[in-house]
Amino acid sequence: MRETGDGPERLNTGTAHSARVYDYILGGKNHYEADVAAGDAMVEVWPALPAHMRANRAFMLRASRCLAREHGVRQFLDIGTGLPTSPNLHEVVQEVAPAARVVYVDHDPIVLNYAQALLASTPQGRTTYIEADMRDPDAILGAAGFRDTLDLDEPVALLVIGMLHFIHPGDDDQGLIRRLLDPLPSGSWLAATVGTADFAPQEVGRVAERYAAEGMPMHLRTHAEASAFFDGLETIQPGLVQVHKWRPDPDDERVRDEDIAMYGAVARKP
Ligand code: SAH
Repeated sequence: MRETGDGPERLNTGTAHSARVYDYILGGKNHYEADVAAGDAMVEVWPALPAHMRANRAFMLRASRCLAREHGVRQFLDIGTGLPTSPNLHEVVQEVAPAARVVYVDHDPIVLNYAQALLASTPQGRTTYIEADMRDPDAILGAAGFRDTLDLDEPVALLVIGMLHFIHPGDDDQGLIRRLLDPLPSGSWLAATVGTADFAPQEVGRVAERYAAEGMPMHLRTHAEASAFFDGLETIQPGLVQVHKWRPDPDDERVRDEDIAMYGAVARKP
């Protein structure tokens, strides 16, 4: 694909990006040839990858609906949003509570190009998009969109879904989560999914090699390493489990355990 003008150059459309590979595998429309080639190569080494990604997305929808419906959460901070995929987080929580507010954050400039779809809030609620890197929490917490959209006297749910495998221990991974939770009041929440090679080590290892070859090195975690993100928080039932086992809906896609390389949990800040 030829690149002209400022936009596409900044978007680096000649190389694969995680948001666009994810979009491609989920059946979206916002990706380029490099993303298709990378995605196809990944599915070839692990055919379960699309089912795994759908299960991750389904967890995000169930967890956020649960937080809005059962725990009355009205404010959401979603880091590593990805490209719009209907239903988006704000659609799910504003269906429960039209006044719900959502701050979306991603570091891939392509997401901004499609952010209009993320910003289609109900009139009563509010949505904002911040282009920032999770490894720089101050850039997120200091952004006008964060301060103007979220009331820090009321609980906020921090969502970090399908992206912690791009955050390495050398980035002070657990410290980043703590710094993001710090300004949020007691009764706030963390919902996160964490990539793991615990169930299909060879296949998932090959996918990780493909991502690394595309310039997106991945860090996969054991159950104990994934649990560490929730230290000091009160994890609600059923705890940290493979995402398809977290409060499944009866009409969810049926999957095999070995096809799901993601743990997920929802926890309350005391
Ligand atoms: N949360 C969505 C999308 C996951 S795809 C879902 O689960 O459906 C992973 C997203 O994380 C991509 O959009 C990628 O650009 C973003 N991402 C990866 N590393 C990031 C970082 N350091 N800071 C912010 N976003 C990041």
